[in-house]
Parts: sequence; structure tokens; C-alpha cells
Amino acid sequence: MGLEAVLQNEGILTTQLQRVVNWARRSALWPMPFATACCGIELMATASSRFDLARFGAEVMRFSPRQSDLMIVAGRVSVKMLPVLQRIYQQMTEPKWVISMGACASTGGVFDTYAVVQGVDQFIPVDVYVPGCPPRPEMLIEGIMAIQRIVDNDGIPPSGRRVPLQIAIEPSYRTQPQPVPLTVGMN
Ligand code: SF4
Repeated sequence: MGLEAVLQNEGILTTQLQRVVNWARRSALWPMPFATACCGIELMATASSRFDLARFGAEVMRFSPRQSDLMIVAGRVSVKMLPVLQRIYQQMTEPKWVISMGACASTGGVFDTYAVVQGVDQFIPVDVYVPGCPPRPEMLIEGIMAIQRIVDNDGIPPSGRRVPLQIAIEPSYRTQPQPVPLTVGMN
């Protein structure tokens, strides 16, 4: 109600608590790299000195999900690995965001087979898709900046905790008894 203008003349800045919280969050994203294939190499390059992800405050790659708030899925995910991906996502702190990096993570890519998940967004909520095979580091940086824009607008999720879309796929195969090995008798 005009208070901001009056206080500004007195040398006092006012803002909303949510803006400060969002600013702190967007400036210190801690990625949880889930790199399974060649896209992971580009992810590593993004953190190198040439591209310097530290400029965006997101260089602190954590391999501990409880210290991370940005999952980056880089590479194809097999059906067998899916429960692990979901477990790690669930262990990450709230609020958290997800980038699906590359064609394989987003769609299965060229691996249109029964063993590869045809898009991780069927099983965990994805915020930003980075296209390419592989995406260049600049493209991943643009994806991280897109996450920052999301955090700027609604860093505190209005609808509370998000949950993965489905529980993990149960493997349908059952191990079969193996043939009894031949024994060679000594006569
Ligand atoms: S999208 Fe291309 S570069 Fe990335 S994991 Fe798949 S095959 Fe490799």
C-alpha cells in the first residue's frame, strides 16, 4: 500500500519472504546426477571449467539424494534400473525438480526395446526436457536456467508434495532352475 515506496526513500528495501526463499533456492540448486550412458559425459562436461556450471550456482553435484534437490536423468534407463531411480527420487529433499536430459531419458531414444523405459516421465514427474542425442552442455545449462525460472515463479510448490506417477515396474520374469551340471566321475 505504498509502504515499499516510502521505505525505499529511507534506504530500506522490502520484499516478500517467498521471493527471498525462491531466490536462495534457484541460486543454489544441488544436482543429483543419474547418469547411465553417453549423455552423462556431456553432463560431466557441463561442470568442467570450459562451461563452468558454477556460474549458475549448480555445480555441487551430490551423490547423496538427501542433499540434492535437482535430479538430472542423463541416459537410457533400463526397466531393471527403474526402481533404483524411483527410490533415489523419493529420498531427495522437498521441494525437488527433475530434468530429463537427452532423447533416451525422455523417450527411450533409439532403444525401442522391452528392456528400456520409453520415457522416465511415466514414472517420475519431469519438469524440463532437454532434447538432443546427446545435448550439448549449453543445452543442459539452458535446461537448468529453465528450472531456475520455474523456481522463481513457484519455488514453494503450491500443491504440496509431488509423487511419482506409478510405482516401480515389477519384473515379470522369474528365475528358472538351472540345469544340473555334469559331474565327471573318476573310474
Ligand atoms: S540420447 Fe544419445 S547420447 Fe544420450 S544416452 Fe541416448 S544414445 Fe547416448
